[in-house]
Amino acid sequence: GQAKTTYKRVLLKISGEALMGDQGYGLHPPTVQRIAKEVKSVHDMGVEICMVIGGGNIFRGLQGSAQGMERTTADYMGMLATVMNALAMQSALEELDIHTRVISAIPMDQVCEPYIRRRAVRHLEKKRVCIFAAGTGNPYFTTDTAATLRANEMSCEAIFMGKQVDGVYDKDPKKHDDAVRYGQITYDEVLQQHLGVMDASAIALARDNNLPIIVFSLDEPGGFRGILAGEGTYTRVHG
Ligand code: UDP
Repeated sequence: GQAKTTYKRVLLKISGEALMGDQGYGLHPPTVQRIAKEVKSVHDMGVEICMVIGGGNIFRGLQGSAQGMERTTADYMGMLATVMNALAMQSALEELDIHTRVISAIPMDQVCEPYIRRRAVRHLEKKRVCIFAAGTGNPYFTTDTAATLRANEMSCEAIFMGKQVDGVYDKDPKKHDDAVRYGQITYDEVLQQHLGVMDASAIALARDNNLPIIVFSLDEPGGFRGILAGEGTYTRVHG
């Protein structure tokens, strides 16, 4: 269809787990391809797209450190996991003829580009999808914080959190039939009620810069495009 959007530049954050399908671990190529198609349908609307993908489908720093690994080393392993996910997404997008750059917070020139803000902005202006990898490049952070940081740096109008549920609920909708979805909610309410939107430091960074967070379901085919066109159900987190 001819769906239109008022958005010019957005950041899509997905967890690593969104890429593992039903496998319980790692990458499930058909799932990566399905999400790439969702991204393409938004790219086709002329929207400039940033992406941040987590690494939890491969490795989480906290898990490693719980098993006796040094925390910072474990976190670097987590960051490397996000690079693998970013490369998988790049490959799936390029299969759909979408020009893509993987941009890593930790330089690894043979694999992808280093993060240089002005260069990334230029890629976006040329309608290349920028996948920001390796989180913030620092241990003790998460890819939610990386997503908020990059969305601010790239002047995105909002962060779109692609989840397996269509918004923020007062309790887990997979466990409680009477869970109620919020249409909108403030950053402070999310923090006070410990709602699982993002980790607290990421929410605070979004709040301090007035960056709206849109929580929506990526399981809904055409959902991402629909939300950008103002349709469908989602929760908007704002000031
Ligand atoms: N990580 C990190 N610094 C960052 C981003 C990520 O140390 O700026 C590490 C951290 O160990 C984390 C792992 O990378 O557990 C994977 O990222 P995350 O847990 O955010 O992935 P998701 O839950 O979104 O799949």
